[in-house]
Amino acid sequence: MAIDLRSDTVTRPSEAMRQAIATAPVGDDVYADDPTVNSLEERVANLFGKEAGLFTPTGSLANQLMIRSLVSPGEELLAEGNSHIVRAELGAAAVFSGITTRTWQATNGALIAKDALEIARPESGPYLVSTTAIAVENTHNFGGGTVQSLDEIAALRKGADELGLALHLDGARIWNAHVASGVPLAEYGKYFDTISVCLSKGLGAPIGSIALSTKERVAKARVWRKRYGAGMRQVGLLAAAGHFALDHNIERLSEDHRRAKAIAQAVGNTALVDPQLVDTNIIGIDLSSLPLSAADLATRCKEKGLWISALGPKYARLVTHLDFDDAQLSDAIEILKSALVVK
Ligand SMILES: *Cc1c(COP(=O)(O)O)cnc(C)c1O
Repeated sequence: MAIDLRSDTVTRPSEAMRQAIATAPVGDDVYADDPTVNSLEERVANLFGKEAGLFTPTGSLANQLMIRSLVSPGEELLAEGNSHIVRAELGAAAVFSGITTRTWQATNGALIAKDALEIARPESGPYLVSTTAIAVENTHNFGGGTVQSLDEIAALRKGADELGLALHLDGARIWNAHVASGVPLAEYGKYFDTISVCLSKGLGAPIGSIALSTKERVAKARVWRKRYGAGMRQVGLLAAAGHFALDHNIERLSEDHRRAKAIAQAVGNTALVDPQLVDTNIIGIDLSSLPLSAADLATRCKEKGLWISALGPKYARLVTHLDFDDAQLSDAIEILKSALVVK
């Protein structure tokens, strides 16, 4: 069996999770009749100290529903240049919501509040695009699983309040940030007007995200979710997987983090990957010091049974997850190290 470290989305539901799915009480969620969905939305909202939650099939949809609730057509969202919202949602904010996006650039995706605040231009009148919201990604995926500093988040909130701007958290991997930093989920929740979280990344559910905000915003997002064609019926089957993931798969993320750190340390070359920068479950490898492309590295690894992602010409990514254990860890390290040897 190949070892698949392309992403933490590749996990398959365990037997126990499948059991939870099979026995879930369900109803028609478009009529708000599905008890498993309702309890999941409420549960996750409570975890983050928010009034309400909305179950969505994807994190992209959760992000987009929340962003459109903050930013009107013709207004601007600020986000980091390598963020998922900017690079991996295929222009959705522009296509569906008429939102323009402007970016700041951050080393390893790490938030520096003033970088975002400096480019904000609220209430720009008839001359320039007005900024209305800022998005933060935590952990930062393409930054290499970077955990954002709570001090910088607090500084961003303070500055945003002074400028009258809203804040959105793309918390696809907020669980990893929480486990790595020890910061309570509700503490993260305090700083943001809207949040999206994924159940299908490190938590191992087959599908599902939750959008979180005030009752009023979530009620509006429910209408837009249906308009987008994502009103789902007996979807408690999937919400049950989410409940199972919250019950069993949060604290164990520390194992994914330990294994990711072990891979980075084993590479033993800080020019390729600095273990100190591996905060969570993502290992970004910068190949600019080697005569080897990311695609070549991925091919070499694949030939030996290790699947990794080539995300840029010289940037490769490995992500540890629920279906990756210590036995596979030693194999993965051996394969990766030999693939990095350039003769
Ligand atoms: C995976 C991910 C999402 C959501 O992705 P979907 O594939 O739409 O569920 C959002 N933000 C980040 C940072 C992600 O890694």
